[in-house]
Amino acid sequence: MKLISVASEVTPFAKTGGLADVSGTLPQALSDQGMDVYIAMPYYRDIVEKALSEGNISLPLQTLTSYHFDWGGVDHELRLLYLEWENVKVIFIENDSLFNRDNLYITSTSKNGVPEITGYSDNFKRFALFSRAVSRYITETGDFEIVHTHDWQTALIPVYLTSDLYSSEKGKRPFLLHTIHNLAFQGNFPMEEFTNCGLDDSYIHLDKLESWGEVNLLKGAVIYSDAVNTVSPNYCEEIQKEEYGCGFAGLLLEWSDKLSGILNGIDHKEWDPATDDYLGKYRFKKGDSKGKERFKAHFVKEMDFTSPAAPLFVMVSRLTHQKGVELLLEVMEDLLKMDISLFILGSGDVKYEKAMEGLATKYKGHFKFSKEFNNPLAHRLYAAADYFLMPSVFEPCGLGQMIAMRYGALPIARATGGLKDTVFDIRKDRKGGNGLIFESVSSEQLLETIKSAVELFRGKDFIRARKNAFNSDHSWAASAKKYLKIYKEGLNK
Ligand code: ADP
Repeated sequence: MKLISVASEVTPFAKTGGLADVSGTLPQALSDQGMDVYIAMPYYRDIVEKALSEGNISLPLQTLTSYHFDWGGVDHELRLLYLEWENVKVIFIENDSLFNRDNLYITSTSKNGVPEITGYSDNFKRFALFSRAVSRYITETGDFEIVHTHDWQTALIPVYLTSDLYSSEKGKRPFLLHTIHNLAFQGNFPMEEFTNCGLDDSYIHLDKLESWGEVNLLKGAVIYSDAVNTVSPNYCEEIQKEEYGCGFAGLLLEWSDKLSGILNGIDHKEWDPATDDYLGKYRFKKGDSKGKERFKAHFVKEMDFTSPAAPLFVMVSRLTHQKGVELLLEVMEDLLKMDISLFILGSGDVKYEKAMEGLATKYKGHFKFSKEFNNPLAHRLYAAADYFLMPSVFEPCGLGQMIAMRYGALPIARATGGLKDTVFDIRKDRKGGNGLIFESVSSEQLLETIKSAVELFRGKDFIRARKNAFNSDHSWAASAKKYLKIYKEGLNK
């Protein structure tokens, strides 16, 4: 079975969040299952070349082909570069003016002197041209049986591949699966921009890509793909209801026959405390609580925490509304008056960053805040943590809680999305519990749960929950089999 997985970020080449983990690891797991797997992504030159050199991966050597597309009267050349990596083949779409930027999607601007983070103003053009180049390549190659696209950035691909522009002359086209990693990001753009993307205006219609007076790319993927999935069974249920549907609940209910939820996995090779280079000589085996304690002792000393024996709470996250940062900020002062240590690694909304910086100064020795994206530090934080905070307002799947468990840290999570599928409260389930859960988007409930975690710390239930966390298996193998099943069923239809 020949498959191409198309995403705007893929580990180890470029990453801003969980999408990259999934689109980097699933293809490898599928290749392990015997599939012939290709990955396609934009060539963010500086970012990708840095990652290639850090990973000792050679640069793409071969140029497969290049395409020219017109956009508003201006010619754009997109080159397709080829690289073999691990057990998959990678196709990078290169055009420096579109993709060689400081960031993948966003830039900071200043509005009336106030710094603001916004999407690049030409994001529609960037990802429409990317999608068009990939669609044309798929059509010309002619032998991909499955096209698996991810999120809004690639959502035009199912539209292109079912359109007159790129549908195959033989009338046979690949099976199209689209994965929604986060329904909050739908790719909404002004209708006027659509005229440049090569598709005719009939697509701007409420039955097609139009939504609330704009073009909505994700809507196109839902309508034109053969199957659609989200990244956890619980999120799949949630998004068909108003509360979590981000305006899509009705559409998803209408297409519920082709909708399913498959839990993400994590890369057990990358996330393994026994082989993790970032832990230096303090690496520890799964289940080795003493080894974990040794790493923690070393880490809290290095970080100058004043109470080395206190429970260490960690958060590694984008700092956005989704992640429940407001809930946490509301109770931070109460928390930091308790005998705990807290480390937050993440960046995002400036107002949250500022608040955290202020608290880090005030509670020096108890709270450390690193406003950056720092993968090595993230590894060490998972390893050092006693508890891992994920008070998310919504969470399609969440990888943080799974990584935390693999390093023996207990998640403290809100009962939503994939968190509900993976975290079980030790206070309710003394046999299978692996963390702590609270129900509502409520800072009081978060505070109560953290207090409860402090009480549990190092007691019998804590030890049992840590053991369960260490033993939970979220490797990709099981999920990859579920994807394989969707592909096979799709091909047999
Ligand atoms: P999302 O994709 O919504 O951001 P997930 O929990 O699915 O959240 O995945 C987040 C991934 O990004 C995890 O691998 C996490 O370790 C990583 N991550 C998030 N923020 C940072 C950061 N500031 N530095 C390093 N890694 C981070």
